[in-house]
Amino acid sequence: MHVYADNAATTKMSQVAINAMLPYFDKVYGNPSSLHSIGQEAKEALDAARETVAKCLGCEPREIYFTSGGSEADNQAIISAARVGARKGKKHIISTAFEHHAVLHTLNKLEKEGYEVTYLDVKEGHNVTARQVRDAIREDTCLVTTMYANNEIGSILPIAEIGAVCKEAGVPFHTDAVQAAGHLHINVKEQNIDMLSLSGHKFHGPKGVGALYCRRGFPLTNVIEGGAQERGKRAGTENIAGICGMAAALEDACQHMDENMPKVAAMRDKLIEGLSKIPHCALNGDPVNRLPGNVSFCFEGIEGESLLLLLDFKGVSGSSGSACTSGSLDPSHVLLAIGRVHDVAHGSLRLSLSEYNTMEEVDHMLKVVPEVVEHLRKMSPVWRDLQTGKREYIL
Ligand SMILES: *Cc1c(COP(=O)(O)O)cnc(C)c1O
Repeated sequence: MHVYADNAATTKMSQVAINAMLPYFDKVYGNPSSLHSIGQEAKEALDAARETVAKCLGCEPREIYFTSGGSEADNQAIISAARVGARKGKKHIISTAFEHHAVLHTLNKLEKEGYEVTYLDVKEGHNVTARQVRDAIREDTCLVTTMYANNEIGSILPIAEIGAVCKEAGVPFHTDAVQAAGHLHINVKEQNIDMLSLSGHKFHGPKGVGALYCRRGFPLTNVIEGGAQERGKRAGTENIAGICGMAAALEDACQHMDENMPKVAAMRDKLIEGLSKIPHCALNGDPVNRLPGNVSFCFEGIEGESLLLLLDFKGVSGSSGSACTSGSLDPSHVLLAIGRVHDVAHGSLRLSLSEYNTMEEVDHMLKVVPEVVEHLRKMSPVWRDLQTGKREYIL
């Protein structure tokens, strides 16, 4: 048995999404900007996909802009709001300490250009409150950007309340909903969201395609210059196959959300309950307002990297704080933001589930993870120091 439990990193494509893409590789391969019938057929597919995505978010088709993914949508939303703000002399932005790098690095770039960013604290409850947002809003605030749900620890933010606070203060509100789209109910109008980013590959659609919802009337800045595609706001010949695959995946996910998500949440809860019995561990993230598929723990006295390698060997593909990738020795900024000290943050494990997982797989993980943690602790000098009292337990 090999269990794929890294669905927050990416998901496998659904058959529905694959089928929706196939015609656009070799049958309807025209350029939607071409006036002939083959081009216009592609244009019709593009329009239909836009309508589908808009319906899933509760907005108008003309408020949807297709992008190359979640990262590009985040960049464009934040840069657009920053430019609008600068024109009015407003250069203050509010965000949180546990955003995705697509948001954080864009904000860092703006800070170098003279913008000031307030990063809301997420230690309390591993989440933020709308009250924190309200208290941080100033006369010169030009944007609030908070994620909808956190990709590492699963906390779901109070988006409707934050939206209401922003609306009352007249401040534009962007949310990185890459982890939420297709998993949680979204209605941008009811939730007072001005801009929202999503990405196809996080809900069983293709990689390299995403969308930015932008409320009508809010002026977007181009981040890709060129032709007049996407109403002049995002140049480049449209990725028709990808866009159609993403739209089909999103529609499928939204249609089956009410039956799929409780099943996924039941697997999550069983996994959390079982893994909590491992001594000296802690659950990361909001225990109540939590993504249906997210399980995130820190285990004291071990290294996340070795944990992952051994788990892979035993048939479980998980992840360990997304910053601990390729060459970076820094622990995840998300785990540090919720107050985990370096040593503890290094021993993290994220298992992220989807509707393609099964209870049998959960049972397999419940058998294997405690074994591997115990095995690694036996070899760990840090664990020995903890056991002999040379070092004090934190968890
Ligand atoms: C995956 C992810 C992104 C990036 O999306 P891409 O389509 O891979 O660029 C942004 N934000 C969050 C919260 C994510 O989980």
